[in-house]
Amino acid sequence: MLDFLGDLKRTHMCGELRASDAGSKVVLMGWVNKRRDLGNLIFLDLRDRSGITQAVVTSDAGAAVHDKANALRSEFVVAVIGHVKLRDAGTVNKNIPTGEIEVVADELRLLNDCKPLPFTPADTVLANEEVRLKHRYVDLRRPEMQYNIRLRHQVSIAIREYLNAQGFYEIETPFMTRSTPEGARDYLVPSRVYPGEFYALPQSPQIFKQILMISGFDKYFQIVRCFRDEDLRADRQPEFTQIDLEISFARPEMVFKTVEGFLTAAFKTIGTELQTPFPQISYDQAIRLYGIDKPDLRLPAMANVREAFVPEDLETLNIDAELPVVAIVIPKVGELSRKERDEIKTMFGDRKEAKAFEDIKRLEKSFPDAVVKIRELAKPNPEDLLVVVAGAKRAEAATPSKTRQQAYDVYAAAGQLRLALGQKYAERHGAFKHGNFRFLWVTDFPMFEWDETEGRWNAAHHPFTSPHDEDMDKLESDPGSVRALAYDVVLNGTELGSGSIRIHRQDIQSKIFKALGMSPEEQQARFGFFLEALQYGTPPHGGIALGLDRIVMILAGAESLREVIPFPKTAKAVDLMMDAPTPVSERQLKELGIAVRKDSN
Ligand code: ASP
Repeated sequence: MLDFLGDLKRTHMCGELRASDAGSKVVLMGWVNKRRDLGNLIFLDLRDRSGITQAVVTSDAGAAVHDKANALRSEFVVAVIGHVKLRDAGTVNKNIPTGEIEVVADELRLLNDCKPLPFTPADTVLANEEVRLKHRYVDLRRPEMQYNIRLRHQVSIAIREYLNAQGFYEIETPFMTRSTPEGARDYLVPSRVYPGEFYALPQSPQIFKQILMISGFDKYFQIVRCFRDEDLRADRQPEFTQIDLEISFARPEMVFKTVEGFLTAAFKTIGTELQTPFPQISYDQAIRLYGIDKPDLRLPAMANVREAFVPEDLETLNIDAELPVVAIVIPKVGELSRKERDEIKTMFGDRKEAKAFEDIKRLEKSFPDAVVKIRELAKPNPEDLLVVVAGAKRAEAATPSKTRQQAYDVYAAAGQLRLALGQKYAERHGAFKHGNFRFLWVTDFPMFEWDETEGRWNAAHHPFTSPHDEDMDKLESDPGSVRALAYDVVLNGTELGSGSIRIHRQDIQSKIFKALGMSPEEQQARFGFFLEALQYGTPPHGGIALGLDRIVMILAGAESLREVIPFPKTAKAVDLMMDAPTPVSERQLKELGIAVRKDSN
């Protein structure tokens, strides 16, 4: 028999009672986390989002209450009306904040029951993720998920408050719009009113926020959902949340300062004080020092040790004199066994462009002077692992631009090995422990990327990104060397966000579209409205967007984005709880003027 709530009012949350509440009359409401039946005594761990209190039903409560308590099972919803009592010294539970007290029940109301569950929030072993996602409502009751969702809320609020205090307006932009330029596939929404026509869900509010600058809202932000139909990788979601902002009359430093400010506020939610300003390095430096455009600063940078080798050494070792030679240092790895050294070889793989020297002692036997010099340049401590990566000798002479590309390939190979070694020896160097947050800005990204398959230049960020003033004249002659006023904020080897100073002049925007291989007709068809808007007094402006999900994941120390998104999709883009996507009725399709092709997949 279920009871009604009637006019009963909750007086306390389950997690907030303390010794000082002893003697108070209380009404608690929540879920039965666990029930222990000792015959004349029944213990109920009552849980709500604030925590757990132990309630006890003694025989004093009378047979009716006792019978009711007897029938309770995990996750039944109850109201306990009782009084707070100090526990005997011997039964104090030091593991929970309410452990000094218990609530002695005078009355119980059973507000709802619960069917047997495939798992319960009290389980100590985690159910498999599919089961968790299918019964997400139960999964979200688990204290870890309650923590993550609360943290997400606190982070969003902290960011909002910070940006508000800096004079930013939070302005909404449409979800039903037209294709935006982030380079992924669009999710489309068919129009019923205009059969055969579609809205696109925004991959980001990029164009709208630039239009808002044209409209005079000089500091805009939004914590906003974006939709990208990408080939799904393990930690991507088809819809995700960005902290999106744009500033008029901005230089990169203004954007950096704003982001550093709101990240500082966000990290305060877990009690971490960030050091600002974050260091800045150019894309080019990032590649040279870390072999990647999102450096993980928790490990030492790579050292350029090319000068350690004399020409004869290079010749004997088959190293190309024009390509880089770098040393990787991984701290505190200690002496490696033969087997471990072989594993490094396997990790590096059989590469055409680069070779790794993982046995420095062996190298030292034949090239003692070179290794002394390498040690001077890379400065490893005696217990550190030292590995050298060099460009392999090329069969034929190359053009300067080819050499530039091949040099990058060598840096990239070294950078990958550095990260793989960092992962492998994480226990030994200890730099990856939760709480070691190393931020940086990477600036001056290349403007264009060469698309091998399409045989044309693509925008490396997006086509509204401004080139460097000094590189404007190279747009046509040498697009590969044009730097963009684009920047990324990076944390521990993860890109948290990217942004740029935008093009605010129509003539330059048109030039960039042209450099990207867009004909005037295509420019008009895709971005005509925007090219027109740019002509009506557009202020210089710039901005950035950061992934909220990822930030919360890092703060929570969680392993996947799904742990910090209340209702995520699986890696295969399925919502297991709602069971979406699904086919729709013939009638709906007909209304939309859509026929599903049998051969589509
Ligand atoms: N719209 C860009 C993105 O989503 C960010 C930006 O340039 O502000 O990556």
